[in-house]
Amino acid sequence: MIGALTTLLGRENVLHEKEDLIPYSFDATAVLKRMPRAVVFARTAEEVSGVLKIARSHNAPVVARGSGTGLSGGSVPVEGAVVLCLVKMDRILEVDARNFTLRAQAGVLTQAIYDAADAEGLFYPPDPGSMKVSTIGGNVAENSGGLRGLKYGVTRDYVMGLTVVLADGEVCVLGNKCVKDVAGYSLKDLFIGSEGTLGIVTEVLLRLLPRPAVRQTLLATYTRMDAAAETVSSIIAAKIVPCTMEFLDSRTIRCVEDFTHAGLPLDAEALLLIEVDGHPAAVRDDSARIEDICFRSGASSVRLAANATESARLAAARRSAFSALARVKPTTILEDATVPRTELAAMIRFIQETGARHRVEIATFGHFGDGNLHPTFLTDERDSDEMHRVELAMKEIFDRALQLGGTITGEHGVGLAKKAFLRQQMGDASYSLLRQVKRSLDPGNLLNPGKIFDL
Ligand SMILES: Cc1cc2nc3c(=O)[nH]c(=O)nc-3n(C[C@H](O)[C@H](O)[C@H](O)COP(=O)(O)OP(=O)(O)OC[C@H]3O[C@@H](n4cnc5c(N)ncnc54)[C@H](O)[C@@H]3O)c2cc1C
Repeated sequence: MIGALTTLLGRENVLHEKEDLIPYSFDATAVLKRMPRAVVFARTAEEVSGVLKIARSHNAPVVARGSGTGLSGGSVPVEGAVVLCLVKMDRILEVDARNFTLRAQAGVLTQAIYDAADAEGLFYPPDPGSMKVSTIGGNVAENSGGLRGLKYGVTRDYVMGLTVVLADGEVCVLGNKCVKDVAGYSLKDLFIGSEGTLGIVTEVLLRLLPRPAVRQTLLATYTRMDAAAETVSSIIAAKIVPCTMEFLDSRTIRCVEDFTHAGLPLDAEALLLIEVDGHPAAVRDDSARIEDICFRSGASSVRLAANATESARLAAARRSAFSALARVKPTTILEDATVPRTELAAMIRFIQETGARHRVEIATFGHFGDGNLHPTFLTDERDSDEMHRVELAMKEIFDRALQLGGTITGEHGVGLAKKAFLRQQMGDASYSLLRQVKRSLDPGNLLNPGKIFDL
């Protein structure tokens, strides 16, 4: 198989020596690791098709990989896998300023998509915390969210079209630049969030928006966690939709401040980082109303960023939360239990109680406006007793999120990390439908087998 792959792609695009394979044996998920059989880099959809045909003829599973920043083990190799890495497909093919669209290959970095749109006065809103390194193909495969989800939604809301290579090597072009198109099933939507299990995305057609005229960042400080949750409910109840409402608990605040020196208040129990954007008059009005609501809901202080530089510094501090927490203990397990916004206070309290009861350290931050929490376990995978308690606490947190009408994952996907909980959330009928879809698109179970569910 290595010979056929080398003939197709060239020697420089096929890795098979052990030391070359190690960097591709894990992603950003704690604990999960497995060596692949080979790693290959494709540059065109035709090469991707060729790789799938060769792998199929050798009955070798194929695991698609972007930058490997996934947090559910999606691009961790399975037994005997060929890892198909898309990072060399890194060209932006078109920014169409008249149709507000952008066409790019799957390996383009999310930040580069944002920058290319911005250069034309346009705006690509989805902004995962990892956007400087994640690929747009990985974002589509995980249906990634980000800090602006509250107002602007997630990756799916911006995908107008996809080029996808199916398990048998067939290349399918799905969608187009039309604002409206109801011809047939919305097949592109099947591949968004499919975590590399149904097809390999080689090209994306994205919807853009006009760039908002101005942005304003506010930083609200709390001595009570509940008050921060109440603020979010009150802002929404006042029919204001900020683009961002990010939350950091006291543990996260201290770690982030130590890491970034952004000027976060170290004595706060909780922080809300809020951003509003749009027309200058609307932004001024919304900011004033939000400031008032923060104080009325119990904020001890509210600071308005003086300028774009300060806003960027605060946003960068928030984006560094995972890296900052990862410095504390050898193993960092970041979860993304998500609940309806109205249940945030109950969920936060439950996470704190659960951590204390199981004697495990949990720092929590997240996209409060979306009800999307990141309870982050600071632990050590070499300590089997503590890891057992982490697992118990994690299961209780997922159970509680589901009882509150939530989900086991708001944005990181199921992958390997959460597949044990999926059936409980979906119920038998929907779970069985997932498997039927997989069987019809990938009957040989070649693409990322064993991820999301077992066939
Ligand atoms: C510090 C940090 C912050 C993060 N913040 C966020 C956040 O705010 N929001 C969020 O949603 N996620 C976040 N993530 C998770 C992660 O960055 C996203 O899931 C991202 O979309 C993964 O992109 P990637 O290119 O690294 O994909 P990978 O990790 O390489 O792959 C992810 C999955 O997609 C599949 N895949 C990759 N490329 C393709 C392709 N072209 N075709 C088909 N399948 C493919 C893989 O098989 C795998 O299942 C964060 C991660 C880190 C480390």
